[in-house]
Amino acid sequence: MSNGSSAQGAGVLLAILRDGHARTRGELARLTGLSRSTVSQRLDGLIGQRWVLPRESAVSSGGRPATVFAFNDGARVVLTADLGATRARLAVLDLGMNVLAERAEELPVAYGPEPTLERVVTALGELLAAAGRDAAQVCGVGIGLPGPVEHGSGRPVNPPIMPGWDGFAVPEWLRARLGAPVLVDNDVNIMALGEHWAARPAVDHLLFIKMGTGIGCGIISGGRLHRGAQGAAGDVGHIRVPASEAQCRCGNTGCLEAVAGGGSMAAALREAGIEAHGSRDVVALMRAGDLHATRLVRQAGREVGAVMASIVNFFNPSLIVVGGDVAEAGEQVLAGVRETIYSRSLPLATQHLGIRVSALGERAGIVGAAVLVAEHVLAPAAIDRAVAG
Ligand SMILES: [Zn+2]
Repeated sequence: MSNGSSAQGAGVLLAILRDGHARTRGELARLTGLSRSTVSQRLDGLIGQRWVLPRESAVSSGGRPATVFAFNDGARVVLTADLGATRARLAVLDLGMNVLAERAEELPVAYGPEPTLERVVTALGELLAAAGRDAAQVCGVGIGLPGPVEHGSGRPVNPPIMPGWDGFAVPEWLRARLGAPVLVDNDVNIMALGEHWAARPAVDHLLFIKMGTGIGCGIISGGRLHRGAQGAAGDVGHIRVPASEAQCRCGNTGCLEAVAGGGSMAAALREAGIEAHGSRDVVALMRAGDLHATRLVRQAGREVGAVMASIVNFFNPSLIVVGGDVAEAGEQVLAGVRETIYSRSLPLATQHLGIRVSALGERAGIVGAAVLVAEHVLAPAAIDRAVAG
């Protein structure tokens, strides 16, 4: 590409077409301020690499059908794995975020990084074959981990429930076996990315609260994921709840997670003589009509809402999405969250605030992992390099 670039390169044309609308050369020239011949030249580069598909428009102007150009979101695929403490969801998606093949399986991260990731590599290979795709079509790999991840390196940092993973070079290890760029982030961040994508048209300020065994918050600020200086932003699970002395696994007392996490609810049920081992059991009991479990879920919603009320005043989001296993309780948990947020946040901050459960449910993580990869490989500068190379 002669002038190299960035401001109005091929990547910018692709970024425009990613909204799903096909456009003519003339429309693209108008939108970018480029000449039609430059637009044609850049489209040729994008078509040559199958990023863009030309087709005849159904509507003809002046009798002659115009050629329109669309983002070819099915030409490449993303491999994803959303690893939880004991279960993983793995999937192959295209760049339109369509799930082509997926599976959930028991895969405790406590096995350690190599045994766990070997299983991930095998499963992703099987899913790729099941989707009828091959390795040449894989443009990237997106991984979510249930612990803090240093953003720059993609390595877990002192993850409390992942023995042996501290500092493990997850991206390099997987790249050597899968042959594509690997992006790693913590599970709550990828879920926030997934919900942000699902909430189109754009919601610029969104908070995703994961309520499961642990409690965490993914932050979309100004349309982008906010990770903080080290990637630790949003760790609301260890904010202190006033008047609680509950012992938390982090060593402190009175943490939100220790009063409203799935583990603490299951423990409270066991004390009452009811068999329960985690958040999924608590929700199953609630659905079966157990009043004790229902009370605990509602109270957990209120505790989370009380912490979120302060965060709403501070951050002023327009949408709060509640996800994770406990969100499967639906209205029971949402009622508690809403009650405390609306009663304790400032009216101006809640005037147009939406609070709902995850639109993607169990798929929030895999969709978000694919969004993470798409943002990386489809960034205009990356596309300019790919087309120039
Ligand atoms: Zn704690």
